[in-house]
Amino acid sequence: MNGVLLGSSAALLHHAAPLAAAPGALPAPGPDWYGFGGVGDYAASHGNTPEVVARAHELRDGHYTPLPDGIIDTGEMFDAVIVGGGIAGLGAAMEFRHKSGPGKTCLLLENHPIWGGESKRNEFMVDDQLLIAPQGANGFSIPGVDEGEHASDDSRYYDAIGIPREFQYPQWNPDHKPLRFANDHYGYLYWIEHGADVGYYLGACCGAAPAINPWSRNLDNTNWTPAQREQLLRWRNDTRRPYDGDDFERWLDSMSYRQFVEQVMGLGRHVADYAGPILAGAVGLGSDAVSAYAAYAILFPGTINFYPPAVRDFSAYQRHSFPGGNDGFARHFVKKIIPGAIAGDDAFESVMNGRVQFDQLDLDGMPVRMRLGATVVAVEHAGVAQSSDTVNITYTRDGKLYRVRARGVVMASGGWVNRHVVRDLPDSYRAAYATFKHAPFLVANVAVRNWRFMYDLGITACRYDGDFGFSVNVRAPMQVGDYRPALDPDQPAVLSFYVPFIYPGEPALAQCSRGRAELFSTSYVDYEHRIIMQLRTLFGTAFNPQRDLAGIILNRWGHAYVVPEPGFYFGRGGQPAARDVVRQRHGRIAFGHSELRGNQHWGPAAAEGARAMAQVLDVAV
Ligand SMILES: Cc1cc2nc3c(=O)[nH]c(=O)nc-3n(C[C@H](O)[C@H](O)[C@H](O)COP(=O)(O)OP(=O)(O)OC[C@H]3O[C@@H](n4cnc5c(N)ncnc54)[C@H](O)[C@@H]3O)c2cc1C
Repeated sequence: MNGVLLGSSAALLHHAAPLAAAPGALPAPGPDWYGFGGVGDYAASHGNTPEVVARAHELRDGHYTPLPDGIIDTGEMFDAVIVGGGIAGLGAAMEFRHKSGPGKTCLLLENHPIWGGESKRNEFMVDDQLLIAPQGANGFSIPGVDEGEHASDDSRYYDAIGIPREFQYPQWNPDHKPLRFANDHYGYLYWIEHGADVGYYLGACCGAAPAINPWSRNLDNTNWTPAQREQLLRWRNDTRRPYDGDDFERWLDSMSYRQFVEQVMGLGRHVADYAGPILAGAVGLGSDAVSAYAAYAILFPGTINFYPPAVRDFSAYQRHSFPGGNDGFARHFVKKIIPGAIAGDDAFESVMNGRVQFDQLDLDGMPVRMRLGATVVAVEHAGVAQSSDTVNITYTRDGKLYRVRARGVVMASGGWVNRHVVRDLPDSYRAAYATFKHAPFLVANVAVRNWRFMYDLGITACRYDGDFGFSVNVRAPMQVGDYRPALDPDQPAVLSFYVPFIYPGEPALAQCSRGRAELFSTSYVDYEHRIIMQLRTLFGTAFNPQRDLAGIILNRWGHAYVVPEPGFYFGRGGQPAARDVVRQRHGRIAFGHSELRGNQHWGPAAAEGARAMAQVLDVAV
C-alpha cells in the first residue's frame, strides 16, 4: 500500500538474520538504510536522514577542519542565529520574538528537511485513511493552571503557545468487548497501566498466552516464582522514604538506579532488570547506567517516596498524545514565531492539520527566519571571544558552504555536535561535554490494516522479552478537526515500537556505541524482517503480514538521549555538574538543549533554549 516491500513480506519471513553490528564502527548508511517515509510534509524527514548522518560523520572526522576554500558569504548579518530547530531552538526563537526590539533579526538553521527535532510526525495513507504517528517524543500531561511563580516550564509555555485543555478521542463501540487504551506510547508501562489492557509476555510468563494486566492481580497470573513476585511487588508498593537527609537529591544522584534498587531497597537483580527498558525509554539507558535521581524525576518506584502523597497517587493521572506526538508543541511554537509557516489561522485544528508553507520560512524582512536542510559546521567569534562583536557561522546546504554573521549565537544542538562545531570552545566546556554520553533510539511505526490479532487476545498493548524492542501498543488516537481515525479492531491503525538499545553490565559509553552501531548497520529490510518476526512471535498466525501489514516507517535517532549517569545532576567529588559549566555563556555564544536537564522533556527543552537566548540578548542586542 505505502509503496514498499509489501509483496516481499512473505519472503522476508525466511530472510537471513542481520549481520551482527561491529561495536565502534559506524558504517555510512547505504541505499537500503532509510526506507519508506510515508506521505505528507514529513515524508522526507523520518528520524535522522542519510544526508544528516553523512554531514555529521564528516564533521566528526575533521572534514571541515580547517574550513575548505570556496565558502559563499551571503553578506547577511543577524542579531542572533540559532543552531537547531528542535523544541529548544524554537523556545530560543520565541524568546527572541518576545524580548528583542523592532527591526531585530534572527535566523534559525536546522539540518533536517523540517523543524521539530525529535518532536516530529509520520503520516501513512492506508486504504484512503490518513494515520499519523509520532517519530519520537509522544506524550504529555496537561499542566495545572495558575501555578504562580513556581509554575513548571510546561505550564508556562502551555497557554503561551495556545494548547487546549480538552481533547477528543473516538468512542469505543459498546458492541465490542470492553478494552482500555493508552493515549500515548509510554504511560502504560508503569504510571497509567490501569488505563490500558496490557499483555505481558516476559520470559517467566505462561507459554504462548500473555499474562493480562498482571500488576492489578498482584502478578498471580505470571510464572515468576513467589519470591520474585514478592520482590517485584515490594519494589512497586514500598512506601518507606529510604533516607532522611535534606540532601536526598544529591544522595540519589550519587548512585545508579540499580544500586538504589539492590542496595537501598534490598531487592534482587531481576527487579532492576525489569525496570531497565522502561527507564531507557525516558533517559536512554537502563538501571545500571543512569542516576537514581533520573528515576526520581520520573516518579519511579522507591524514589517516588520522596514526593508528597498526592503526587504518588496515579489514579487520576492522565497522559495525552497529539496525533504526531509532540510535533503538536513544535507546530504551535512555529506558528507563533512565523505565522505564515503553517497554512490557516491559529486555531488548534488549523495548526495541527495545515500544510507546511515551506516557501514562507525564510523571507527577507521577517524578525525570525528559518533555513532548513542547513548543517552548521563551524561557529567562531571573529577575534577574541570576550571582546569580539561578531560570530561567524558556516553551514553546508545542497553541497555548498555558506557563511552568515551574527551578534550572538544559541547552540540549540546537543553536545556531540557542539564540541565539533564551536571552534573556539574553551577547554573547560570541552571537558564538560566529554562527560556527556548519548544513547541511540529507534521508533518504528507499523501501519496495519487491522489489529484483530490483539483484540482477540483482549489487549491493546504488550510488554515482552524479544528480538525487536520490548513493548508495542495501539493508542487511542486523538481526534483533531477532520482527522478522525477509527478505533476499531477491523480498521487501520498504527502500532508503535519504542526501541532502546541497552546492554546491562557494559559501561555506559560501550552501550551507546554498540547500540548506535546496531542502529546504523541494520538495513531497512532487516528491520522489517525483525518486526514481522516479532509480531509473529507475539501473535502467531493471527498476524498475517501479507494481509495485515500496510507499511513501516523507521525513525532512527543516533543521539536520542543524553544519559544522566550518577553525578550528572549535582556533580561529583565537590566538582560542579558538567551541565552547569555548559550553561555559562561563552562570549557571544550560549548553549541551550534539552540534554542539559538530564530528563529531556518539551517544556524544559524550550526553557533551556530561552535561557540561552536571554544570555545572548544580554550581550548581542
Ligand atoms: C524516543 C523519544 C521519546 C521521547 N518522548 C518524550 C515525551 O513523551 N515527552 C517529552 O516531553 N519529551 C520526550 N522526549 C524528549 C525530547 O527529546 C524533548 O522533549 C525535545 O523534543 C528535545 O528538543 P531539543 O530541541 O532539545 O532537541 P532535538 O529534538 O534533538 O533538536 C535539536 C535539533 O538540532 C538539529 N541540529 C543538530 N546539529 C545541527 C547542526 N550542526 N546544524 C543544524 N541543526 C542541527 C537536530 O537535527 C535537531 O533537529 C523523547 C525523546 C525521544 C528520543
